[in-house]
Amino acid sequence: MDELTAALKAHFGYEAFLPGQREVIAPVLAGRDAFALMPTGGGKSLIYQLAALMRPGLTVVVSPLIALMQDQVDRLQANGIAATFVNSALSGDERTRRERAALEGRVKLLYLAPERLLTGSIIGLLERIQASAGLALLAVDEAHCISEWGHDFRPEYRQIGELRERFAQVPLLALTATATTRVRGDIVTQLHLRDPFIHVASFDRPNLRYDVRPKDKHTYGALRSYIRAHPDQSIIVYCHSRKTVDDVAASLADDGIRALPYHAGMEADQRAANQRRFIQDDVPVLVATIAFGMGIAKPDVRAVIHYDLPRNLEGYYQESGRAGRDGQPADCILYFSFGDKAKIEYLINEKTDEQEQQVARRQLAQVIGYTQGQGCRRRALLAYFGEEYPQPDCGNCDNCLHPAAREDRTTEAQKLLSCIGRTGERFGLRHLVAILRGVQTQKIRDLRHDQLTVYGVGKDLSEDEWLHIGRALIEQGIIHTAEGELPILMLTPAAWQIIRGQARAVLPARPAQLPARGEPATAPGAATLDDASAGLFQYLRDLRKRLADEQGVPPYVIFADAALRAMALQRPQTREQFAAVPGVGQRKLESFYTTFTDAIRAYCTQHDLPLELAPDSAPRRPERDRTATHLLTWDLFEQGKSLDEIAAARGLRPTTLRTHLIQAIREGRHVDRDRLLPPQRYAAIAAVIRRLGFETMAPVKEALGDGYDFDEIFFVKTFMLHDIQMELQTDA
Ligand code: ADP
Ligand code: ZN
Repeated sequence: MDELTAALKAHFGYEAFLPGQREVIAPVLAGRDAFALMPTGGGKSLIYQLAALMRPGLTVVVSPLIALMQDQVDRLQANGIAATFVNSALSGDERTRRERAALEGRVKLLYLAPERLLTGSIIGLLERIQASAGLALLAVDEAHCISEWGHDFRPEYRQIGELRERFAQVPLLALTATATTRVRGDIVTQLHLRDPFIHVASFDRPNLRYDVRPKDKHTYGALRSYIRAHPDQSIIVYCHSRKTVDDVAASLADDGIRALPYHAGMEADQRAANQRRFIQDDVPVLVATIAFGMGIAKPDVRAVIHYDLPRNLEGYYQESGRAGRDGQPADCILYFSFGDKAKIEYLINEKTDEQEQQVARRQLAQVIGYTQGQGCRRRALLAYFGEEYPQPDCGNCDNCLHPAAREDRTTEAQKLLSCIGRTGERFGLRHLVAILRGVQTQKIRDLRHDQLTVYGVGKDLSEDEWLHIGRALIEQGIIHTAEGELPILMLTPAAWQIIRGQARAVLPARPAQLPARGEPATAPGAATLDDASAGLFQYLRDLRKRLADEQGVPPYVIFADAALRAMALQRPQTREQFAAVPGVGQRKLESFYTTFTDAIRAYCTQHDLPLELAPDSAPRRPERDRTATHLLTWDLFEQGKSLDEIAAARGLRPTTLRTHLIQAIREGRHVDRDRLLPPQRYAAIAAVIRRLGFETMAPVKEALGDGYDFDEIFFVKTFMLHDIQMELQTDA
């Protein structure tokens, strides 16, 4: 074990670095400036925390939110690391006491709010520290706050550049989870970074499962069942308005679910109390507007549910990204309805600034594109951030897990389209559906629409089914909607072709008809526990909660769920076994060894369970689980089974199996290409890739035409890249 890994285990109890952590720590330790752009949950804080511990002197961390400072300091102290913060909320005496501790070298990390930085007293203090204990590092968290182009500009952040000049020899490390190219440039110039090492991580969050569900009259019930199916798990439900927040929270409470509201219209005290109760695991569910979330680092949120449509994808990525910071599986569910879309459109039309309107319309169109897409959600989200997802199928979003079946609905489409034509292309979907279903409404009688030949020809389908068909035709561009107060449906040339029987309407099946699309198969975050271990896990959670309340800290400061799950599975008794649990560093070993091993022994004795099990059944981060599954596929394929046979045996789709094989190829494993693709096909695809380049495969697909699909193209690309790599290796 090298020095860095040893320090990681000793201080934080982790066995291995997350992607990018080591890459950034190394140059910082060498005294170089650095800039890390990593997604939420990527483990940014650990970078400067570990660097702080390994460099002599004090590390100053600039962080914009007081709540975050407190949280980080709690967690560091629980690991036995000397950290403190100074901000305006402290009394003068307390501030002096903490500053003196820093001056005397008794503190390794000092958190400061940006508005305090350039006060004479802080500068004086830092100068004195530099002359005595020394300054190790200046870390700037949430560095995007420095840019006016970012979404939460903090003018005080501008002062950091000046501070940097005063302490020119101290390396500066900037970190953020949100930065467009423009903001990135701003950060580098405004912070006066010098030849920084820049790390840009993938924004993919593989442990998050993206899921879009239709929103209709059953949605509240679905939400309630979801929450009931995941008892005691932290869940955030985001709603558009304060009123919806209050309504949903009240309904859940009436239904016996412990849920609290959070929005900017509440009394500050009440709001803070609700937030605290959520963070301390007193209540599992928080129903909130997007006012909630900034500066919340609760790592074990198991689901973020958007009850209403978000306004833009950036926001959706950030909000949903608050799930699963701990790397364990988590759900991101978005409920979509065309009614919500209309509501947002209405608000957009209210805006007076035309440019703002345009931006908002474009953003809304992107959100709609995301929700209505039939392809991989992850791929779509990453594409929004300019990142190409390297595989055709992520295996962890609703579309990849349950691709919508398609069905020929030509007859129904003809009925609806004729109805639009016969009523003069002047009505909205609901009225048209009422005509088809032969409903008696005042409007129908007034307009004499009950005299039409299409009146009542669609009695055989429910209203929901007709709405689904109508919407699918709109999405496919077969029906055109005119902008107006009420959306009016009009026919396109494609619609006329269907009416005349010259084209067919093949539409996605209704999601509700797909049985697999309901609840996820396993409760996220509890996937790896058998019944016996699950009982022990719950027992340990209760113990953790008691200890947390005694110490006045959130439970995750004591141990993460992952640590408790490992304890429940391995049931450690010796010090060595306990030290091997992920998240148990030196300090936690001292503080909790006796309490937890005693509790485990007591529970196991009482329930007649074996102790001291081998750690190989320990839960792993989901990336590694995926490794296991792709190797299983690879193994079967190498044994001579065909993809179809493996698909049947494993209950997986061939596309998923292909991603498994691609991963295996990438890892340098042998895969017989002739069994995957006939050599002529391979040669044809390879020729086009050679001509058009490896960057994006869409033009390649276009050049090849309909006879080829993306899966095959990706295979060839992967094989070709693999060959190039092998060549390079043998050359070197
Ligand atoms: P970010 O600031 O990038 O959003 P955090 O610093 O909050 O991410 O880290 C996310 C979670 O991952 C935290 O619960 C943290 O304890 C955990 N974590 C950080 N580094 C590691 C590691 N090397 N191994 C396992 N877990 C880690
Ligand atoms: Zn996917």
